[in-house]
Amino acid sequence: MADGLRVVVVGAGFSGLAAALALTRAGAQVRLLEARDRVGGRVLTRWLPDVTQLDLGAQWIGPTQDRMYALVAEHGLATFASAALGAPTVLWAGERRAEPPARAARVLGLLDEYAARLDPSAPWQAPEAAQWDRTVLGGWLRAAAGDDDTADFLGRLLAGGLLATGADEVSLLHLLFYLRSAGGTGPLLGMAGGAQQDRIVGGPPALAERMAAALPPGALTLAAPVRAVEQNVDGVTAWTDTGRVNGDALVVALAPALAGRIRYAPPLPPLRDGLTQRMPMGSALKVHAVYPEPFWRADGLSGVSTSSAGPLTETVDNSTPTSPLGVLTGFSYASDAAALREMSPEQRRRCLLDAFVTVVGSQAGDPVDLIEYDWSAEEWTRGCFSGALTPGAWGAYGPHLRTPVGRVYWAGTETATRWSGYLEGAVRAGERAAAEVLARP
Ligand SMILES: Cc1cc2nc3c(=O)[nH]c(=O)nc-3n(C[C@H](O)[C@H](O)[C@H](O)COP(=O)(O)OP(=O)(O)OC[C@H]3O[C@@H](n4cnc5c(N)ncnc54)[C@H](O)[C@@H]3O)c2cc1C
Repeated sequence: MADGLRVVVVGAGFSGLAAALALTRAGAQVRLLEARDRVGGRVLTRWLPDVTQLDLGAQWIGPTQDRMYALVAEHGLATFASAALGAPTVLWAGERRAEPPARAARVLGLLDEYAARLDPSAPWQAPEAAQWDRTVLGGWLRAAAGDDDTADFLGRLLAGGLLATGADEVSLLHLLFYLRSAGGTGPLLGMAGGAQQDRIVGGPPALAERMAAALPPGALTLAAPVRAVEQNVDGVTAWTDTGRVNGDALVVALAPALAGRIRYAPPLPPLRDGLTQRMPMGSALKVHAVYPEPFWRADGLSGVSTSSAGPLTETVDNSTPTSPLGVLTGFSYASDAAALREMSPEQRRRCLLDAFVTVVGSQAGDPVDLIEYDWSAEEWTRGCFSGALTPGAWGAYGPHLRTPVGRVYWAGTETATRWSGYLEGAVRAGERAAAEVLARP
């Protein structure tokens, strides 16, 4: 037990909430400081008038994400299966196909084979790590695939769909780490049986709110961005705009890119500070087009697509079982998302609807509603889905991802060794950081 131990937790996303709950249960006195006026972080659910649930941030959980399923059950919530009716579509170099050519599957197999050689808690230790770290994913894919169409498609699927970045912005090693932490391309890319299998009734924010409600009264302070963290031999202090909170230890439950915006006294060691400068947030746009019904199902289409070109890399049928409305959700990444941000709202709407039309037909051009939400424009998130280390950075900086600095400990999904980048990783990282604090000498 940790009776009397005072711990400050910075950030009430899933990682901070999980850390705060674990510490509270162990007897620590916890103060959880959250910048926003809500808990949950990179999750947000908007309700349409007929109560269709639109998850604007994270939405899916799937097999082996055991902590998330356990939390859903513990907090009295339930899941529902993602819609997966009809055939998926692959838009490949101007053709419609049921699946990508076999050569794409061969490259995925090779990536899984390489990823299996990594220890996700120390990817820099693999014999090939230095070479993979200096290898930019896009170049590797061009060599491994043997043709540009396959390389571009896989770059969009993997760097885009998983890391929300461009294949030329990330290393082969970072992708391999990400694959390894989730168990490979199968679990990551699948709908049923994979990471996109289930959604939470009420949305992930409902779970975050219940986790927060399980904390002792007064433990959580909203609208309290932490601006500075000071530590000395006697303790650690978090400074907000309105005052200070003292503790014996402090958990920073933020993406490194956000953690690096806090002022530390004394300053962070160079390699930890350098890590925060080398792990930029991804760049994704998730957009929802709402229709009177999921009309594509009558044509035998699932609404699930992956495209080798165009503004949307992926679409899914995001309709909910309790509503007659049809929802198609599209994802745009990296330079495609940047191009969309440069457009006027009218141009962007036209461009997005044209992309939906390409997937499911002309009816997609006339939605009841088109809902966009840009996490890159959010001060307390600045991009999504997660942060990824830049090429060449794992070797020197990776070992400082989790290493505590005095009384300061690091959580957040980016620090997870299992399901890094996901809600599951956030929870596991929070619980791991809590265990480290409790084990402090
Ligand atoms: C569009 C989108 C789709 C996604 N899809 C999925 C999905 O389907 N499944 C899945 O598992 N994951 C998905 N993710 C990723 C998932 O959302 C994240 O992995 C997870 O939410 C990260 O949790 P976290 O607690 O580590 O960080 P965060 O959720 O970012 O929490 C950090 C918290 O700290 C707060 N904060 C920031 N700075 C300060 C400060 N200085 N002081 C105090 N508080 C601060 C923030 O407001 C935030 O509440 C998606 C993310 C997005 C945005």
